[in-house]
Amino acid sequence: MIHINTEQELMAKLEALGEMDEETRNDVVCSLLGHSNIQKTSLGYYYCARCDEQVGDALCGIYDSSDVVVIGHDCPTCRANYEKLDWRHKIFAPDPFTRKLKTDKENAS
Ligand SMILES: [Zn+2]
Ligand SMILES: [Zn+2]
Repeated sequence: MIHINTEQELMAKLEALGEMDEETRNDVVCSLLGHSNIQKTSLGYYYCARCDEQVGDALCGIYDSSDVVVIGHDCPTCRANYEKLDWRHKIFAPDPFTRKLKTDKENAS
């Protein structure tokens, strides 16, 4: 079991593995770091936004999605969860809030 503690270590590891396409690289990253909490949902299923693998099934009630950031959801919960994610979840994962630019004024009134 390899332990990757920093982004630099991950990059060095990927470099050592040589050339690979984006999809393969993302699979490798997930196998090294675990799946991202940045996820896509479809019909109650949750998919890792980095490698597209199914990571949860909310229909069976067995998946705790309380820490998940849903792509395109852009709700206060997802925003708060995103703030809690470390680089392991964010690296190579798509930006979940692409539709809106981040504003400095969270409490605009
Ligand atoms: Zn994944
Ligand atoms: Zn949300």
